[in-house]
Amino acid sequence: AHEVNNPISGVVNLTMLMQRIMKAEGIPPDRREEFRGYLSQVAAETQRVGRIVSDLLAFSRRSSPQREETDLNQVIHRTLSLLAHKLELARAELRMELEPSLPRIHADRSQIEQVLLNLVMNAAEAMPDGGTIGIRTRSDREEGEVHLEVTDTGTGISEEHLSRIFDPFFTTKDEGKGVGLGLSVVYGIIDAHGGTIDVESWPEGGTRFQVRLPFNHPEGNNPA
Ligand code: ADP
Repeated sequence: AHEVNNPISGVVNLTMLMQRIMKAEGIPPDRREEFRGYLSQVAAETQRVGRIVSDLLAFSRRSSPQREETDLNQVIHRTLSLLAHKLELARAELRMELEPSLPRIHADRSQIEQVLLNLVMNAAEAMPDGGTIGIRTRSDREEGEVHLEVTDTGTGISEEHLSRIFDPFFTTKDEGKGVGLGLSVVYGIIDAHGGTIDVESWPEGGTRFQVRLPFNHPEGNNPA
């Protein structure tokens, strides 16, 4: 409530301020620049609320995935093509190593897409000067699992933060940039799919997230 309330109070205050500036005859010419500034703050704060609400929706939907037979590699290709432009802007080079004919998983595609989106955007945001994002899939047929690994060459996560990154609302990002729900959404989705997620990070930089998801049909479903 606090996370949603703050930007909303901001919007209310800014709106009242703008009402005061705006007289019957309109905005005084010498205050137009100031007025425009308030309007962009309103836009930014409203976008922030929007982002929190959609994160919260994803967070609360986590327990009821709409599952179907899913090719993880295909979801990766689709999600990354949506992100291509953003990654280019972030000067993030992508290195993919996808195991051909990966066993299919019984999964909610849009939720898996959300997992990738969050992990990859976090990786990009951890590399302010650009770097490399690695995406790897492989199968562990003995354990009946597919593994998805997302690595980056970014800032890394400090020891004291490492145990908190999956907590709702834990963020180290600036106001407006992060609300701290991304990884709790990821955790919830993976958990609801019967999987696990682990993280490793190095103080000199670089982080690796490893997701393991069980699959049901190791052979049958896989035209190689
Ligand atoms: P948000 O991105 O809104 O901050 P998340 O739950 O996605 O929320 O992430 C929580 C925190 O975990 C981030 O603020 C950041 O400190 C840390 N984090 C997540 N992924 C990475 C990464 N790849 N490299 C470094 N830090 C990360």
